[in-house]
Amino acid sequence: MNILLLGSGGREHALAWKLAQSPSCTKLFASPGNPGIAEEAELVSVDAGDHGAVASFCASHAIGLVVIGPEAPLVNGLADSLRSKGTPVFGPSKAAAQLEGSKGFTKDLCERANIPTAGYVRTSSLDQAMTALASFDAPYVLKADGLAAGKGVVIAETRADAEAALSDMFGGQFGEAGAEVVVEEFMTGEEASFFALTDGEAIIPFGTAQDHKRVGDGDTGPNTGGMGAYSPAPVLTDALQARVMTEIIEPTVSTMAAEGMPYSGVLYAGLMLTDEGPKLIEYNCRFGDPECQVLMMRYQGDLAATMLACAKGELASLGDEALSFDPRTALTVVMAANGYPGTPEKGGAIDLADSQADGAKVFHAGTALSDGRLVASGGRVLNVTALRDSVTSAQSAAYSAAGKIHFPSGFCRSDIGYREVAREQG
Ligand code: ATP
Repeated sequence: MNILLLGSGGREHALAWKLAQSPSCTKLFASPGNPGIAEEAELVSVDAGDHGAVASFCASHAIGLVVIGPEAPLVNGLADSLRSKGTPVFGPSKAAAQLEGSKGFTKDLCERANIPTAGYVRTSSLDQAMTALASFDAPYVLKADGLAAGKGVVIAETRADAEAALSDMFGGQFGEAGAEVVVEEFMTGEEASFFALTDGEAIIPFGTAQDHKRVGDGDTGPNTGGMGAYSPAPVLTDALQARVMTEIIEPTVSTMAAEGMPYSGVLYAGLMLTDEGPKLIEYNCRFGDPECQVLMMRYQGDLAATMLACAKGELASLGDEALSFDPRTALTVVMAANGYPGTPEKGGAIDLADSQADGAKVFHAGTALSDGRLVASGGRVLNVTALRDSVTSAQSAAYSAAGKIHFPSGFCRSDIGYREVAREQG
């Protein structure tokens, strides 16, 4: 089967790496890709925003499966356009992708399906939002309704800060994405990510992870797209995972199907593990980045076959080997360009040297080739990933590999996995 993978980040490099190993993948194309993905796939230039162009590429290259990496094309309905032409797609329809594309949509669905999440008020004017603040205690959680590249959430410590943030949001800070704002109750606990594959009916758990959103050690400084992750997340015990399935994932999938918006693809639940149990923070309609890198490092099945089964509504017929993960821990450290998450320095030279000699895998995110040499081209640049028996040993293997990389205009956090390392060391 020929496959087209869309996207260009570390997530897509990890997917390309795994798809290329799939016995059922004959030929892998990727667009736009990056120099790491180019080692696994033939790079082509197909604009994911131009649905007609993607469909004609699929027709002319006998594509049997399209894998859509990032959320924007899903929220824009690319999966619907391709399915209408008969091409199987891994990823939800436009209607189902509202689970990520509209925070208000997801909150309302949680209310209808009795799914545990933070209390909330949906507002569409500054006045309404200011009034809503009175129903909550500090800190105030304010969310632009639409996609805002991970930057649309403000946690304000004081009422004055919350009012100022609301004025910015309704003043156009996030464009259309901020035309509606959800004001939420603040939840306390540890965060973890849970992944499930579903074809709209059958659901299979697809791993757990924890990421590190803040730029600085000890979870300090501004939020980023993610500075590192590990999988599995032991904090999500088997008992908690069972609760997440029955209390959160299953009612979501069945309600979406019952309401005529069956969800197909990966459903990624961001969870808060509160004293009252796991509660949903948000849904994403694609794999996390960098969580995907650690999941793929552990996944042992035929990814292309599993994704095709998901796309065709045949998940229930998959055997156990399709669902198997290496029980060891994968940990990834993100190397970012200086300046990130503000304006990253571009063009910095990178030499991977023998960083992958001890079995570590370096996934490319924002890299490019300039005169045949590898350089940084974005904020998050490399994901240095290791697989070992414990978080502690995976952490030390990933940092040892990162230490061999010559990237003078880059940096990384030095403590990815620190909470779990502390627990392992008792
Ligand atoms: P992402 O970067 O994952 O796309 P996002 O912008 O879609 O993020 P959320 O994941 O909803 O937004 O929120 C971002 C972060 O804000 C969460 O990871 C969590 O740390 C914090 N947060 C969100 N909602 C709450 C809440 N109700 N209580 C406490 N913290 C929250």
